[in-house]
Order: sequence, then C-alpha cells, then structure tokens
Amino acid sequence: MNVCVVGTGYVGLVSGVCFSDIGNKVTCIDLDQEKIDKLKQGIIPIYEPGLSDLVLKNINENRLSFSTDLTEGLKDADVVFIAVGTPPKENGEADLQYVEAVAKSIGEHLDSYKVIVTKSTVPVGTGKRVKEIIASVSGHTNFDIASNPEFLREGSAIYDTMNMERAVIGVESEKAGEVLTELHKPFNTNIVLTDVETAEMIKYASNAFLATKISFINEVANVCELVGADVTKVAEGMGFDNRIGKAFLQAGIGYGGSCFPKDTSALVQIAGKAGYDFKIVRNVEEVNQNQRFKIIDKLEAVFNNDLSGRKIAVLGLAFKPNTDDMRDAPSIDLVPLLQEKGADVFAFDPVAAENARKVIPGLNAVENLQKAVNNADAVVILTDWPEFKEMDLVQLKETINQPIIIDGRNMFEPETMKELGYYYSSIGRPLVDGRE
Ligand code: NAD
Repeated sequence: MNVCVVGTGYVGLVSGVCFSDIGNKVTCIDLDQEKIDKLKQGIIPIYEPGLSDLVLKNINENRLSFSTDLTEGLKDADVVFIAVGTPPKENGEADLQYVEAVAKSIGEHLDSYKVIVTKSTVPVGTGKRVKEIIASVSGHTNFDIASNPEFLREGSAIYDTMNMERAVIGVESEKAGEVLTELHKPFNTNIVLTDVETAEMIKYASNAFLATKISFINEVANVCELVGADVTKVAEGMGFDNRIGKAFLQAGIGYGGSCFPKDTSALVQIAGKAGYDFKIVRNVEEVNQNQRFKIIDKLEAVFNNDLSGRKIAVLGLAFKPNTDDMRDAPSIDLVPLLQEKGADVFAFDPVAAENARKVIPGLNAVENLQKAVNNADAVVILTDWPEFKEMDLVQLKETINQPIIIDGRNMFEPETMKELGYYYSSIGRPLVDGRE
C-alpha cells in the first residue's frame, strides 16, 4: 500500500519505517525542515536502538522517503496516519492544535479516497472532529476516518512495532476496517476491530492502568519500608498470579516520560468533562508525583537534613533507560531541588545530557560515570541504565568519598551492598549499612 505518515517524531518515524519494512511505500511528512533534511541523509534525530539501520535500509530499497510537503505524501496514498504530538495543556487536557492543523491541511489537498487514521493519543471524540474539519475544508466526504492508537515503548520501539501484541483499529466503515486489517496482516498480530470512540478510549485506559500498577506497587513499597517487608519479593509473589502478571511491578521513584503523565491527566479531564470524577487515576498521579521526592528524604536522612556542600553524583537523567527523552523525567524536579538544598550535583547520563541541559537550568552534566562519582559524598541512581548495573562496585567504593548509595530504581541487592561495605537505601526494601 501507499502510506503517508504526518508527524515524524518517535511514533511517526518508527511506524513509518516499520510499515515500509513490511513492504509498503511510505512517505513521512514533518514541518521541521531540519529534521527532514537530516532524515533524507539517514541521520536520525532521536536516540532509538536499531532505528538508524532500518531507516537507511528502507531508504536504499526505495520504500521510504521524507518530505515537508504534505501534497507529496497525500498523492497516491491509500492510508494517511496523523502522528503529531498531543501535549498537555495547563489544565491537563490534551492539546489538539497540531492534530487539527493536520486535518485542515489534509482537507485542503484531498483529491481521492483515503483512510485517514489518527495514531496520536487523542481524547474520545477527536476522530469525529477530524472528520468534520476534513469534510468542511475539502467540501466532500470521499474519505473514511479511523483510530489506530500506538502502544510502542521508547527504547524498544522497533521491536514493539514489529512484534505488536495487538493492533487496535477503530472505524466507521467496513471498507476502512478491511484496509487497515490488510495493512497490519504482516505483523501477524491480534486485531481489535471496534468503533472510533472505543479505540480512542482503549489507549487512555491502557496507559492509565499501567500507571496505576506502578503507583500501586510504589505505595506497597512505602508500606513495606514502614513494616519491614521487601517489595521486590512481594512483587515476585504477586506476579506469579496470572491475573496480576509480573510486568510493571518494579517499585521505584515512579514513572515519567511523554505518555503516562499526560495520558493520566487527559483521562481525568475526559472523564471530568463527561461529568465523572475518575478518583483512582487522580490518586495515581498524586502518588507518582510524591514518589520521586523519596530520594531527597532518603538522602537527607543520611546527612542529618543538611545537604549543603555535599557532592552528589546523580546517575541517570532520562525518564527511563535506552532513551534520550527527558519529558517529565524525575530528574527535572530532583536536580534543581538538590541544588537548592546546597548540594553540588555532578550528573551523568549515557545519552540524555544534551536534552537534559535544555530543561534543567544550571545542570552540571559530566561526560562519564567516573567524573560524576569521583569524590562524591553520595551516589543517587535515578535511571536504571544497564551500564550502572555493570559498575564495578568494589572500585566505586575506592573512588567515592563516602560509600553511600541511594537507589531510586532498586538496581542492586541490599545484602550484597552491605557485604561490600555500603550504606544502601533503596525503595521498599530494607535499608542496609555496611560501613565500618
Ligand atoms: P513528537 O513530538 O516526537 O513528534 C511529533 C512530530 O510532529 C514533530 O516532529 C513535529 O514537528 C511534527 N508536527 C507537528 N505539527 C505538524 C504538522 N502540522 N505537520 C507535520 N508535522 C507536524 O511526538 P511523539 O512522541 O511521536 O508522539 C506523537 C503522538 O503519539 C502523541 O499523541 C503521543 O501521545 C503518542 N504516543 C507516543 C508514544 C511515545 O512513546 N512517544 C507512544 C505511544 C503514543
């Protein structure tokens, strides 16, 4: 099929390249000239494992092209995906200005039947709004609208798309359902065929449920600390129950990123507008926001509430490993707070430092792990990058000023840390102190 993807960010680029890799002819459109120029040369503007090779392969095999000109993408397209951002407004609602702008441009250039699919995460009712805009601007109704929300995870986006667990396809017409089912056939996945509104809701319900799981286990962790239980064992014991499952039960300093924070607030807004108070999700957000500050409490507990002049090594700035995405990362709140409390912060992240500098004023991000930990009074782990897991803990102890680790991601075993002579405070597990 001929596919046009409008919006070449994380989602648009990954979807576009995967649709091309399974044999479609894909044109990815973006307003950002610099981004498109780079992509044409095979230079990838984001950090995503495996993406670069796949983009180059499909450019070379003439299935993938990039343009800033929407007419180029629309020409001959059977399916048009809208994959632009839907960032949160001040009140938590999803901002639909980019989706609406794309709908208007599609309307201006629509000349033959196409299935126009919203892939962006959008509130229930947006598909209808897109339809109204396109129909009123184009003056005809020779098109179908559909919803096909995206579930990929940054960091494993290619794998997630190529091995998608389900494709949710919300349509108003049988024809659109057939076209999109056909398009997804090579992925050999479960197709959930439904109406547009239900598809839109599935995305928010899924993300809010996963966020709930994280906040739930974080609250369990907080209780574990008070009563002397170990949350990792609690999660293991829970996870063997198929009704619960093992995933998303890792206690820590909570979620961040471009999706969970904004999608939970958007769901609260969607429900509120419909006259319903979505209490659970409201509390999930509150628990998550508070959870990140546990790091500060734990650090202050070791230093008698005085962090002034302490050299603190912060390991990890991105909201999760394998990404340079800094959107709503806990580090955005925590690094400035540490600095406000007088700490001398030396931060290291394998890939997110450049993006982090844009959102954390006064950030002192150093170029390697060694520089961050040298003579540190304490090491604080905010992101569970695999290379932190592989640190030589014996050597680390020689390098740092005091063997104190505050671990917001539960990367190490408390007993081992104790044997190695560390003061080690993690989330929902026994505090150990192996210092002499
Ligand atoms: P992004 O900000 O990385 O990319 C959006 C792109 O759209 C940008 O490159 C921007 O220049 C472009 N754009 C904006 N207006 C445009 C226009 N009128 N014409 C052409 N291009 C335009 O966003 P993203 O992370 O890819 O997210 C896109 C959507 O997918 C959001 O709704 C998001 O909630 C959803 N989503 C994201 C993820 C994720 O992990 N990032 C996962 C699932 C769903």
